[in-house]
Amino acid sequence: MTHLDRLAQERRARLAAERMLELKQAELFAANRQLDRHAKRLSEQIVETRAEVVSVRNENARFKSDLTVANQKIALVERRLWHTIETIQDGFAFFDEQDVMIMANQAYLSVFDGLEEVQPGVRYSRMLQLLTEEGIIDPGHLSPRAWRAFMLSRWHSEAPDPVVLRLWNDEYIRVIDRRGPGGEVVSLVLNITASVANEQRLRDAQERAEAANRAKSAFLANMSHEIRTPMNGVVGMAELLGDTALSEDQRLYVETIRSSGEALLVIINDVLDFSKIEADKVHLHPEPFDLERAIQEVARLMQPSAQAKGLALTTDYDPYLARRYVGDPGRIRQVLTNLIGNAVKFTAKGHVLVRVSGRANDSGQMALDIRVEDTGIGIPADKQEMIFGEFSQVELDSNRSFEGTGLGLTISRRLIALMGGEIWISSEPGTGSCFGIRLALPPADHEPETAEPARGLRGISRALVVDDQSASRAQSVQALELLGLTVQAAATGSTALEMAAPGTDLLLIEGFPGGDDPAGLAAAMRQAMPGLATLWAVADLAEAQADAAACGFDGVVQAPVTRHALLDALSHLSERAAPPPQGAPASAEPQQPKPLDVLLAEDNATNQLVFRKMVDGLGLTLRIATNGEEAVAEVARLRPDLVFMDVSMPRMDGKQAARLIRAAETGARLPIVAVTAHAMREDRDGILAAGMDDYLTKPIRKAEIKRILGERFPDRYAEVAEAAARTNTGRFGEESSGRKP
Ligand code: ADP
Repeated sequence: MTHLDRLAQERRARLAAERMLELKQAELFAANRQLDRHAKRLSEQIVETRAEVVSVRNENARFKSDLTVANQKIALVERRLWHTIETIQDGFAFFDEQDVMIMANQAYLSVFDGLEEVQPGVRYSRMLQLLTEEGIIDPGHLSPRAWRAFMLSRWHSEAPDPVVLRLWNDEYIRVIDRRGPGGEVVSLVLNITASVANEQRLRDAQERAEAANRAKSAFLANMSHEIRTPMNGVVGMAELLGDTALSEDQRLYVETIRSSGEALLVIINDVLDFSKIEADKVHLHPEPFDLERAIQEVARLMQPSAQAKGLALTTDYDPYLARRYVGDPGRIRQVLTNLIGNAVKFTAKGHVLVRVSGRANDSGQMALDIRVEDTGIGIPADKQEMIFGEFSQVELDSNRSFEGTGLGLTISRRLIALMGGEIWISSEPGTGSCFGIRLALPPADHEPETAEPARGLRGISRALVVDDQSASRAQSVQALELLGLTVQAAATGSTALEMAAPGTDLLLIEGFPGGDDPAGLAAAMRQAMPGLATLWAVADLAEAQADAAACGFDGVVQAPVTRHALLDALSHLSERAAPPPQGAPASAEPQQPKPLDVLLAEDNATNQLVFRKMVDGLGLTLRIATNGEEAVAEVARLRPDLVFMDVSMPRMDGKQAARLIRAAETGARLPIVAVTAHAMREDRDGILAAGMDDYLTKPIRKAEIKRILGERFPDRYAEVAEAAARTNTGRFGEESSGRKP
């Protein structure tokens, strides 16, 4: 290799080296630049990070201070809450869902009387155990185990009922537990000792008040009894005195004594009834009864007072309306007596009309509408509600002269309300009043007819009514027409004799028309028309039964006349008409009937005398026993036909005597009629339960005794009374009976 070649080779090598160097330098340069950029980015990142760190640090510091504040707040609230919970006097505790106590205030823990075991951490079941084992609670009638079981099952129910516990020291607590959705329980314990004591005091007070009320009722019942016994003497003797020969003045005095006595009895009954209603002691005694008859009976009782004032008292019972219903007839009569009595009392002229209608309602009952209309003084609109309040009367010049307690309407309204009905009023001063009763009663299932029409009416198609009172005459005509008869009517006997058409089968004479003697009129008519049946309509049926027969009437019917009363009378009439064969030899001597043998058991000498005098002339043999023991002995010895038995007697009372008589009885049942001064319904039930058949309340009245005798011995008593009447002077029975308004 030449030098040149070597030079050239070296040069090339140097050039290549230089190029390489340049290349490397360029690469280095580029790397340097990249490094530069990287370093720059890094330093930027460091700056950013540093700023971030600063801000995070700041934030952290802020958080820390917030947390402290929050913690402080929580602590404060907790302190306050606990303070509050500790301050309230009721026990408060909190249990977790495992029934473990989380916390409880002192009031709660104090129930456990310092037992250290009872504190947060204790289980509910353990607490129950401690309560029984340590005798802290009184489990009452439960055993401790049963009590714990009861409390635990209650605790585990979803919504436990509050429970009242009695503690060992006679304090009472009410425990109220609420279970939350997570199963935890908040328990509240309230000390209710004071309110329990209060309740007890109230109960005691109520019991005392009820006892006082019972004592009041007993006192009133007793008073009524005590007053009735002497009143029996007063009213009875006045009645007897009225039957003796008296001057005009004396008769007036006697009648005043009698009517004042009766009025006093009405007042006693009102006060008694009112106090019973007040004490919720009035109970209804529903039974099937005849509404039309009940109304007729009340109207009949009022008839004498109405007639004395010249008022027409009539009834209008819808002929198509059923008569028998289930209700309390005694109470319904009482209300009607009050309404009709008021109507008569507050009416000076015109009429009093009782109307009854009704329609079936949806529940199968009859909605009855009973109205008592009068043409009296009326009641101003602003007083119409007031009169139903107790002791309230309309104080007007026009009615200051009327007596009364002001209790009647109060009692009536309450009684009707008790039956589910209502009383209403519409009235115009000077024109009249209408008191109405709206009352729904179930019809009695069975409607017995008093008589079979065909039987009663056999052969009778034309009737003649003689009555001088136009209202009652019209009612009788209507009743007869409803039975399908052709009817004529006359106001006096002489007109009747003139107008009687041939073919008249029935003559109905009411009272004493125009002062005529009814017996003479009947006899004259019968002479003119042989075969004529004669009926006498009288206000008091029981009274007149014997008299009617003695006067030659074929039958009597109760006034005011209704178609049912007529059916009754006509059926008896056809029974009697099945006659002894014509021309049968009349017995030469009328046989002397055996007198009825009556025993009266009564300890009070005045009442014995009253009774003895009242039955004087009735043709009875009367014996007297002065107590129950004697009565039992006399019944065994004498076998009387009938016993009147006073209920309250020394040694043995009437009920006991009746029981003994019944126990010893072998043959026919002896009628025993209680005589009692107890006028209350409940007494009646006791009397009947003792085996007596009927009862009379004191003061007893002659008419009542006659009624009983007539009912019990319809044939014998009529004969006996007739025989007695023949030997007596035989005045027609003109005594009135019953309550007068
Ligand atoms: P009493 O009749 O015993 O005073 P009531 O309670 O029966 O008591 O009646 C209260 C009052 O209502 C009567 O005093 C009378 O002022 C008035 N009153 C009741 N019924 C009538 C009537 N039919 N007409 C006018 N006023 C009446």
